[in-house]
Amino acid sequence: MQTVGGKYFDTFNTISAWCEQSLLQQAMDQCAFYNALLSKTVEGSDVWRINHAGGEPVPVSQHTLTILKTAAEISEASQGAFNIAVGPVINLWRFTSGEAKVPDGESIKTLISHADCSKIKLQGDAVTVPAGMEIDLGGIAKGYITDRIADFLRERGVFRAILNFGGTVVTLGSKPDGTPWIVGLQHPAGEHGKKCWAAVPCSDESVVTSGVYERGFYVNGVRYHHIVDPRTGWPVQNGVDCVTVCSKNSLLADGLTTALFVLGPEQGLNLAERFHVHAVYLERDGKISYTTGFNFVILENTP
Ligand code: AMP
Ligand code: MG
Repeated sequence: MQTVGGKYFDTFNTISAWCEQSLLQQAMDQCAFYNALLSKTVEGSDVWRINHAGGEPVPVSQHTLTILKTAAEISEASQGAFNIAVGPVINLWRFTSGEAKVPDGESIKTLISHADCSKIKLQGDAVTVPAGMEIDLGGIAKGYITDRIADFLRERGVFRAILNFGGTVVTLGSKPDGTPWIVGLQHPAGEHGKKCWAAVPCSDESVVTSGVYERGFYVNGVRYHHIVDPRTGWPVQNGVDCVTVCSKNSLLADGLTTALFVLGPEQGLNLAERFHVHAVYLERDGKISYTTGFNFVILENTP
């Protein structure tokens, strides 16, 4: 098995398969294209142009439109728990800067009051976002990108592979012996990638996780992390440590994990059932809850 790695989207990503290393490298190189299209910080990207259009319509690629349509669907179904307009509030927290700090409450209040993603308009291939509003596809883009990279590999005859893009794992086919891939779910308290609390067997499916451990900081014992409650602008504090969604569609799974994180287990598992995906929550107090019939294994000593 060959593996290539690449740092994109603020995570280290790997693609492993039984094929030429050069083909895997070409697959990884696709990330540069999607980053140039979807990053909010790359000048001239679709998202950058949308955010700098001052309320005017902006023609964008089909890739961006597809993501925005799914984002709107998840946003509506989750009653706004998923909201790509939280961008300016996320910027305020400066999670990726290395100098993250708790912003003042008034600034949060002001910015979150403008974050109404139901005002985003899609007409033909044009997107209009009201002046003063910004979008951030950080909660959903990686799902779309990994779907496309998986397609790229399948189109070139690669039917057994595993992509690991931070919290987004995509499996193609099964292992060569015909048994499913086993995807470990990272323990929230464990060192990155070192300790798993559960294992999910899967073939041709994506396993996507949102967790408090991914990005954030502590002040006086409170964890301020990168998933924001659109009702308040503050990081969600609902006792959820991590939630995982399993689906054939990474785009949907990625958007849903973020939505499910905000909603918490009671409403979140209902939403998962409505989208016909499996989901499992691990809460800080050790409680585990999941959709009916989800086939996964809880590992010993958890949590
Ligand atoms: P994920 O790890 O997939 O849950 O995505 C987290 C990222 O999504 C954050 O770094 C933000 O860019 C963005 N985000 C944070 N809160 C929300 C939210 N409530 N709805 C949509 N996107 C969000
Ligand atoms: Mg997500």
